[in-house]
Amino acid sequence: MATNNIPKKINTAAVAFQTWKKTALTERIRHIENLKVKLLENKQEYAEWISKEMGKPITQSIAEVEKCGLLCDYYIHNAPAFLQGRTIATEAAESYVTYDPLGVLLGVMPWNFPFWQVFRFAIPSIVAGNTVVVKHASNVPETAQIIETLCRNSGLPEGIYQNLPISSKAVADVIANPHIKAVSLTGSENAGIAVATEAAKHLKKSVLELGGSNAFIVCEDADLEKAVSTAVNARMQNAGQSCIAGKRFLIQESIFDSFLEKYKAAFGQLKMGDPMDPTTQIGPMARVDLAQEVENQVQQSVAMGATIAFGGTRNEAYFDPTIITNVTKEMPVFNEEVFGPVAALVAFKNLDEAIAISNNSRFGLGVSVFTQNIEGIKTRISDFEEGAVFINEMVKSDPRLPFGGIKKSGYGRELSEEGIHEFVNIKTVLIQ
Ligand code: NAP
Repeated sequence: MATNNIPKKINTAAVAFQTWKKTALTERIRHIENLKVKLLENKQEYAEWISKEMGKPITQSIAEVEKCGLLCDYYIHNAPAFLQGRTIATEAAESYVTYDPLGVLLGVMPWNFPFWQVFRFAIPSIVAGNTVVVKHASNVPETAQIIETLCRNSGLPEGIYQNLPISSKAVADVIANPHIKAVSLTGSENAGIAVATEAAKHLKKSVLELGGSNAFIVCEDADLEKAVSTAVNARMQNAGQSCIAGKRFLIQESIFDSFLEKYKAAFGQLKMGDPMDPTTQIGPMARVDLAQEVENQVQQSVAMGATIAFGGTRNEAYFDPTIITNVTKEMPVFNEEVFGPVAALVAFKNLDEAIAISNNSRFGLGVSVFTQNIEGIKTRISDFEEGAVFINEMVKSDPRLPFGGIKKSGYGRELSEEGIHEFVNIKTVLIQ
């Protein structure tokens, strides 16, 4: 699309906002119900586009589309309570807050969950009365357009959701457009810095969902079988291309060898292949250059003394499930985000040391801890510098739970009540 059509689209979104913000919440929700029906009716087609464009195994693509349906359901049922406002007792006759929409929002979205990331930004924003324009990642152009078509075909009025097929270079001009009131970016640290800088220049709010290098801690008292099988999913889902994947596996010394043996055996069972084959568990990475980047991180770490305990080879965009040991904190597999199927294993002596290693990261998205000592670990939750702490479970998003990071993983929250309140004007009203 010619870039000169972009101001026109933003204008359409601004005009639509004037009507949408006055549309009753029940009516806005009815539109989301229709959208959900159409989404699920066509889930096979949408999932196939996801798999074709970014290589996700088809069963995981179907699950991604279904999860978008759950997100719609969640806001269909809960938005009325989240948006009804709040009475606050003061000396005045009445005092309360209302949650008013802001206007046109820009979403800048990544390719790794190309439906889910867009939905979790757009649905609560739209339900709250905003209109949105989305710049999606350049390697998922069909998926990006399909979401706009889905919105239109489900009866959502013109201008509520629009796809902007632009390059990342054109994002600054969109942010500068006076109709754009705020921006939400999910992506890498560098993209976050670029977008937040542009937003700050114009004093516009930004929410950033950036990278992560989650620790996955296994204590000696953990249920080892469960820890191993969860550690496989935590690292291998979407060929390791997930911000909240476990990336650094911290294993207590006394069980390190047995964990490693079981982990290798489980990796050996994984079926890699054609993403369209329903039996495939690991597909190709989204692009060859991304697989090469992971290969470089592995090779540099090996040059610094790391050992490849399993896998380690690349064939075009296919990267073998890989386990690295003898890892130190200076190595790329520890101190960078590794966005592929590579698990870095580090031994620890006690929980204090595990927490220190876990926090030794510029990221702060989430951490998993496997232990049977629930009461003990609950006393240590505040020691973790993370947006989420999951005990005996991998970190995963859930429409009911707030999602987001601290440190270089970004700021702000998506999902749950906090997510729908990110892009509203919390208006204070006092009547004397
Ligand atoms: P990316 O390269 O940062 O791209 C994300 C989006 O930002 C794309 O639409 C991209 O457009 C755009 N973009 C890139 N550079 C930009 C710039 N300078 N100015 C404006 N827009 C820019 O990230 P990715 O490779 O697609 O996704 C992987 C990253 O996303 C990982 O770091 C991952 O951890 C993170 N992520 C975080 C979360 C979370 O919720 N915290 C969720 C998923 C992924 P183009 O495609 O046109 O370059």
